[in-house]
Amino acid sequence: MNLLAECQGAKRIGISGHIRPDGDCVGSCLALYQYLKKGLPEAVVQVYLENPAETFREIGGFEDILAPLEEQETFDVYFALDCSGDRLGGAERYYNGAGKKINIDHHISNSGSGDVNLVRPEVGSCCEVLFELFDKELLDADIAKAVYIGMIHDTGVFQYSNTRPETLRIAAQLIEYGFDFPGIIQETFYQKTYLQTQIMGRVLMESVRFLDGHCIVGWVDRRTMEFYNVSSKDFEGIVNQLRNIEGVDCAIFMYETDIQEFKISLRTSDKVDATKVVGPFGGGGHMRAAGCTMKGTFHDCVNNLSRYIAEQLDK
Ligand code: 5GP
Ligand code: MN
Repeated sequence: MNLLAECQGAKRIGISGHIRPDGDCVGSCLALYQYLKKGLPEAVVQVYLENPAETFREIGGFEDILAPLEEQETFDVYFALDCSGDRLGGAERYYNGAGKKINIDHHISNSGSGDVNLVRPEVGSCCEVLFELFDKELLDADIAKAVYIGMIHDTGVFQYSNTRPETLRIAAQLIEYGFDFPGIIQETFYQKTYLQTQIMGRVLMESVRFLDGHCIVGWVDRRTMEFYNVSSKDFEGIVNQLRNIEGVDCAIFMYETDIQEFKISLRTSDKVDATKVVGPFGGGGHMRAAGCTMKGTFHDCVNNLSRYIAEQLDK
């Protein structure tokens, strides 16, 4: 795919990623935003994201991010990044109404929602997929940094099994641009606020193991969220910490989004395909990291998930 050729003649171009945007989602959107602005100076380029975390303010273009509004905006080309077209939240109708829909992603559960699709499940991050599309002549330190942030977030700083030799070769090219990479890893990936650390501690302390210790679940209800004054953005990293526990093949983190409704995050070892656990509940993601939204009580949700986990562990 040639990104600039796909946008040839477009006057208005929109870019969005999934709801509850993570590092790869924000990094992808802002990398492409900066790239298109540079490569197509005549076009109007806009990025719409719902509530990106403030920790990403260091990425160039962050202050230009718009929140999707009620009124319909029209675009000649619209990009859905790091997800399918049905997880864009309020920007979904911008995408659906666009002259040309382009979907670039790396989720195995995405079957392609655009007029033009590039879904590469073997690649660790959407940023990495984008990097391979970028004309290297247009790259600069700001674009490199945005790509790098996405890569470190989705590969757990090049630790997870989705890190390819090519991932590290790309990272090597990126850090040549000379941005402060140790600083952004610390500030966007490892650093937590005091409250985030407290809520993590509480979830870990109250977590419960089941299926002979192969599974662990941690959760937060609305009352606790209100007590600590925290929201979904503050839970990043909790499920990974649960997954680090010895003997655990499937870690579940869930928080209440509404009455009898939970947002579920899964992290698994090579014994459990996470997409097969959340798939029956309309979720998706990757083999080792996936999620969904479920209705019911806490115990209903855990019971329903555990059926699909046990099935795989029994094999
Ligand atoms: P997380 O647990 O960090 O929220 O998400 C893990 C992975 O699963 C991410 O790649 C994320 O995009 C994907 N994911 C999380 N929740 C959902 C969901 O409800 N639907 C789909 N299709 N993917 C999800
Ligand atoms: Mn991603």
